[in-house]
Amino acid sequence: MSSLRLSNITNSIIIKSLLLLIVSMLLIVTIGTYFFTQKQMKTTLKLSYDTNETQLQQLANTVNNEMEQFASRLTLLAKTSEIQSMDKLTAAGYLKSYNISSLFISGESISLFDRNFNLVCNNSMLGSAKITYPIEFNKISPHRPTISPWYRDTDGTPKRAFGVVVSDRAHGDGRLVANFSIRRLWKNFSDYKVGQNGILIACNSQGEILYHPNMRKWLDGVHKLSELGLGDMNIKQDDKNNIQFLKLDNGTTYLINRSFNPSYDLGLIALQPKSEIDAMVSSVKHISRIILYCSIIAILLVSLWQILIVCKPLNNLIDHISQITEGNIDIEEFKSKRSQDEIGRLSKVFNQMHATIKRQIKELNEHRALLEKEVKERTFELEQANKKLDIISRTDELTQLPNRRDMQRTIEKEVERSKRLEKVFSIIFIDIDYFKRVNDTYGHAAGDAVLKSVASTIRSLLRKYDVLARYGGEEFLTLLPETEQRDAAHVAERFRKQIENQTIFFSGQEIKVTITLGVAQFDSNLGAEKCIQLADKALYEGKEHGRNRVIIWENDKSFESTESTQS
Ligand code: GH3
Ligand code: MG
Ligand code: MG
Repeated sequence: MSSLRLSNITNSIIIKSLLLLIVSMLLIVTIGTYFFTQKQMKTTLKLSYDTNETQLQQLANTVNNEMEQFASRLTLLAKTSEIQSMDKLTAAGYLKSYNISSLFISGESISLFDRNFNLVCNNSMLGSAKITYPIEFNKISPHRPTISPWYRDTDGTPKRAFGVVVSDRAHGDGRLVANFSIRRLWKNFSDYKVGQNGILIACNSQGEILYHPNMRKWLDGVHKLSELGLGDMNIKQDDKNNIQFLKLDNGTTYLINRSFNPSYDLGLIALQPKSEIDAMVSSVKHISRIILYCSIIAILLVSLWQILIVCKPLNNLIDHISQITEGNIDIEEFKSKRSQDEIGRLSKVFNQMHATIKRQIKELNEHRALLEKEVKERTFELEQANKKLDIISRTDELTQLPNRRDMQRTIEKEVERSKRLEKVFSIIFIDIDYFKRVNDTYGHAAGDAVLKSVASTIRSLLRKYDVLARYGGEEFLTLLPETEQRDAAHVAERFRKQIENQTIFFSGQEIKVTITLGVAQFDSNLGAEKCIQLADKALYEGKEHGRNRVIIWENDKSFESTESTQS
């Protein structure tokens, strides 16, 4: 049973609905996935930017603390008695002591100047080596440390000079100056991670690079941000939340996060390669695509399942019903694998209906068979009655011979047969002589007996296929197929003799009768009626010439049978 034919599929409202559902679901899932991806892309970008921003602020705070601590340590140092003594030996010894020297890293120097800004001592091991600080001593504030702009020391390291006032009432206020090296922050900078392969750059407000991971190249002298391709950037400008990408001279595009501390003139720029963001976004896209494909597969599987559990059984049921409507009512009941769902219930109800129809048809058939049997019996009875009626209508009641009407029909048939087979036939007209006298003499019943006797005698002398009929009151007509006139005359003569010689007994009386016979051969030119008339005419001639004789009509004239005359 090919239940899922192409025409069934193209016409199926369920399949059309499923297709519509699939198309709309695919559209929804595709559009939804597209907008979800777009949103995720924005979210991922914002997340990366915010993460970088938070980390950068933490680093900025750390750096800020480091510089503040440096300033406060210097302030505290200026208040110590060893420094305030302004004594060269005491102060130098103190600055070089283990407790103090460990506060400064290699390359950083601290110098004490007297009221005339002459060097008292420094922490240099070489003792009185002259160190210059780019700071105006007389502008150093007595209340808080004064800080110089960034400058390059002799070794090229970016530094800032911090100066504080050393109060000394006896000798007048001196100055304690130290230089802060960027090297203090290198560990913080180098440990700082921007994404996977991002970099951190430190600079001042002039756009001068103070730190770059590739330090050998970028810290051997003064280098500007513009050399990296960041020339347009104004580090002081605060434009938070403005997510920005920049393509640098190395050809790579970066996501930019930046921070600037005006107090210490230190800017931090975090650069994360855009490719990393794109990779994260593409993984989101990838996941979205997987969701999309899974959704499509799920929709297709559900549709296929629907086709299998709804369309196929329904089409099977339709095929089953079609077979029944084509007349195959005795088909087995429809088998459904599921009994609880709609298809199962529909199958069950349909089977019940099928069983009811089957039962009713069986009852109808039985009833019809009974009716047919009855009709057959009635028809048979009617046919028998009709046959009887027919026989009665064609038979003479007294003699049981065919009557005149039947004889006329027989003659018509014989005319046809003789024409077809080109055979002749003859007829003999017979009339009992003086029959009225018989009636008058012996009674009507005796007349009837005579009629019966004559009929039976003549009948007994005939061939099987010859026909004898009672044509009138005491008149008989004989049809002799395939018999010429002369032979018919012989037969007629035999009749005459037999009747003449026989005696009829009735009620103890002996009755004798004779017959007169007219013979004629059928001539197709004249027709049957004329042939009978000629035989009748011959009979009349026989009556005229004395009765008890055979007259033959031939060639427009009659003549008596020679046998009659001889007897
Ligand atoms: P013909 O020699 O000239 O033939 O004289 P016929 O007396 O035989 O002729 P007709 O025609 O004068 O008389 C015939 C009679 O036959 C008259 C009628 O009463 C009688 N007849 C006709 N049918 C029946 C019948 O069924 N039974 C009896 N008993 N008589 C019949
Ligand atoms: Mg007569
Ligand atoms: Mg007569």
